[in-house]
Amino acid sequence: MPRIAYVNGRYVVHRDAAVHIEDRGYQFGDGVYEVCEVARGFVIDTVRHLDRLNRSLGELSIAWPMARKALIVVMREVIRRNRVVNGLVYVQVTRGVAGRDFVFPPPDTPSSLVVIARKFDMAAVAKRVENGLKVITVPENRWDRVDIKSTGLLPNVLAKQKAKEAGCQEAWFIDTDGMVKEGGSSNAWIVTKDGVLVTRPADHGILRGITRTTMFDVAEKLGLKIEERKFSVAEAKAAREVFISSATTIAMPVVEIDGATIANGHPGSITLSLRQAFFDVAEKIKA
Ligand code: PMP
Repeated sequence: MPRIAYVNGRYVVHRDAAVHIEDRGYQFGDGVYEVCEVARGFVIDTVRHLDRLNRSLGELSIAWPMARKALIVVMREVIRRNRVVNGLVYVQVTRGVAGRDFVFPPPDTPSSLVVIARKFDMAAVAKRVENGLKVITVPENRWDRVDIKSTGLLPNVLAKQKAKEAGCQEAWFIDTDGMVKEGGSSNAWIVTKDGVLVTRPADHGILRGITRTTMFDVAEKLGLKIEERKFSVAEAKAAREVFISSATTIAMPVVEIDGATIANGHPGSITLSLRQAFFDVAEKIKA
């Protein structure tokens, strides 16, 4: 059974799926995206993801490609056609197709919409959770609107490639004060010696991760305290536990930062309990 993608009104075979060469997403990174987790046959946190999509589109004055309800139908249809039970659904909206010009095309130019779904290799996920991730740090070099989930991800691409070349799986952007911002595709967390969760405030300078937001609900259910404050690389290296969050990783343990081992080098128990409790707490719709 071939993989199927949705591209501008049509369900097409994934390997043949294509957008126009003058799609502004392709030429300028002039678009936004969302990634939702699909877990045990449910789409996770759809409401929050589509609220954030709405915000990203609004900040860039890009029109919705279709009604929100219709988009949910397409997302579920792509998941169904690809038989994804555990995996992800990717939604990308760009400012559409127009002759190359920096300024916006005419307002009646339709936005482009692409929806893709992919299965996870659950054995590989389990292995990653068991081993934990290794992280490198890199200086922040992105623009100051990373609160918008834009497809313009070149600094993230370079940072994550650098991580890979160092035998690591994530790169953390560090601000000029030595404080951790976020990962190339995840938010950053530590657990203090007292068992308090710490994550950077999301009002400015990082993406407000949906998994990060839902983690507040999960922490409350588990009776864990969260402090929203900046933390340094040094504090992270000395923390009781370190983890990252994103729709595709949920809470994923970090066991090494720039070669320094975190605690005993094994995934932390609080991280694993957050991970375990996440599915029950998160908002779900049947895929
Ligand atoms: N920060 C960045 C830069 C990201 O790319 C992502 C994942 N898309 C996140 C944080 C985590 O966001 P979410 O929990 O919504 O996946």
